[in-house]
Amino acid sequence: MIPFIDLQRQHAALRAELLAASARVIDSSQFVLGAEGRALEQELAALSGVAWALGVASGTDALRLTLTALGIGPGDEVITPAFSFVASATTIVMAGATPVFADIDPATYTLDPAAAARAITPRTRAIMPVHLYGQPAQMDRVLELARAHRLAVIEDAAQAVGAAWGEEPVGALGDAACLSFYPTKNLGACGDGGMVVTRRQDVAERVRKLRHHGDSGRYEHVELGYCSRLDELQAAFLRVKLRRLAAWTTARRRIAGLYHKGLAGLGLELPIEAAQARHVYHLFTVRHPQRDALAKLLTDEGISTAVYYPRSVPDQPMFGGGAERRWPEAWRASREVLSLPCFAELTDDEVERAVAGVRRACERL
Ligand SMILES: *Cc1c(COP(=O)(O)O)cnc(C)c1O
Repeated sequence: MIPFIDLQRQHAALRAELLAASARVIDSSQFVLGAEGRALEQELAALSGVAWALGVASGTDALRLTLTALGIGPGDEVITPAFSFVASATTIVMAGATPVFADIDPATYTLDPAAAARAITPRTRAIMPVHLYGQPAQMDRVLELARAHRLAVIEDAAQAVGAAWGEEPVGALGDAACLSFYPTKNLGACGDGGMVVTRRQDVAERVRKLRHHGDSGRYEHVELGYCSRLDELQAAFLRVKLRRLAAWTTARRRIAGLYHKGLAGLGLELPIEAAQARHVYHLFTVRHPQRDALAKLLTDEGISTAVYYPRSVPDQPMFGGGAERRWPEAWRASREVLSLPCFAELTDDEVERAVAGVRRACERL
């Protein structure tokens, strides 16, 4: 079976460095809010082209704390795409605000700016574009809309570390951006972790308090905060991996190029890279009206696949449903998308076998 992702390959190559990093942290015995975390924050702020970065416990907390840091809470609405990981919307609920779903652009699976414009009401305070699958949302139009209506922009960049829109790295586009270090993300920890990157000092300062019990720095708790820090072991592991991120992204983009060449002309819709976008291919996602039949044929061919996501966000049981009628592109994507193996350690031989297997499967559909 060609694996969908294989973290053991990644970690085998880094084993000695990861063990040395953990020894360094254990010897220092500084496990929370120390030198490794501060160094990682500086490195990711630089990569994102912004002044501030704050490590937190997860990508979910990065979103939740950013919303609160922007002053968003009860009575406020935040526009979020109807097709994403569920945390894009649940974090808005956690912050006390109301998620308002807007449909996606079917070509890129990212927020449709025209749909976002239609979703604006007098209560709208922010837009949360999601850089889904590793491709930045259509940020020119999202930022224009935000400027025109005085809305904050929170980039959900959980899948897109290292991506760019024009000359701007993801993270430098909105008021703040949120990264996830969930193990399978492009920059994954050996556990959970996340980060807020921002060019706004006020947002950075407030996230710094919120992640540590609302502490202003002297056991003076100025507001209700949380316990959401990135621990030093994860920060040390992430710094080892960050040194490889550029090479890993190059490898992902190369695999995507091989798939594009090998899978053209099959009636399979391949991902497109928007003109201004630098896609980092967190996932290589194709679509086909007979997605489930295709997935089954690919299993028989020895190719692992996965569906991100089998339900639109509004159709998750915890939300109200109704995507087929109200967010039809999100609904259709949830039935048609299928992701192929795409990770840096995938071998050329595996990519070739995957291409041949997909070609045979499409002929049999
Ligand atoms: C992974 C992910 C998150 C949440 O990140 P965690 O670190 O798992 O909390 C949020 N949004 C998107 C789009 C994601 O892919």
